[in-house]
Amino acid sequence: MKPRRKTMGIFGGSFNPVHNGHIALAKAIVASGEVDEVWLTLSPQNPFKKSKTLADDVHRLAMLHLAVDGEEGLEVCDVELSLPRPSYTINTLRHLTSERPDCRFRLIVGADNYAVFDRWREHDRLIADYGLIVYPRQGFDAEAGEKGVTIVEAPLYDVSSTEIRAAIADGDDFSTMVPSSVADYIKENKLYGYGRE
Ligand code: ATP
Repeated sequence: MKPRRKTMGIFGGSFNPVHNGHIALAKAIVASGEVDEVWLTLSPQNPFKKSKTLADDVHRLAMLHLAVDGEEGLEVCDVELSLPRPSYTINTLRHLTSERPDCRFRLIVGADNYAVFDRWREHDRLIADYGLIVYPRQGFDAEAGEKGVTIVEAPLYDVSSTEIRAAIADGDDFSTMVPSSVADYIKENKLYGYGRE
């Protein structure tokens, strides 16, 4: 008998920085049993949309590695950093599938993104070839029904990277919103204006 292919859930974002909401959600999705692993997949900087507040890819990647360290079922995926830009999820999934034919890939999106999913490039193929896992987001209802789309139950986590960057820039305590290793990294590397007078 062929061994069962492992299922990986791709959870993409700019993770600027990764926070406790991302990690708790990724763990909840592993716990749901829908996937064997969640791969936190870093979106690269868009060379045409350089943002002052977006930390360098190397920093965001380093923070992701620190955040998943010791978390069972959570992995970091940096494949988009070496793929053509702009990165389209369909290309990322096709690339991953060709690299890892031993795995099955599914895409994880919030109910907010699912509400506008028809704007995503090749959204029909994303659903048909890979399948979606949709998690709740404040203010968005996701109803089960569409083939290839699974709604998972997960708590709502009231934290965002924007809020964290603002707290750091204002000199406020942000240490409860990110893993402690990530907080240390931000301080050591003076990211997001940390320590600026
Ligand atoms: P920003 O505030 O900079 O826009 P963010 O906190 O929303 O960032 P992203 O890196 O954009 O973080 O997040 C990656 C993915 O995680 C996105 O699809 C986003 O919807 C989702 N996400 C972000 N924060 C949460 C949260 N608190 N709970 C669940 N999902 C979240």
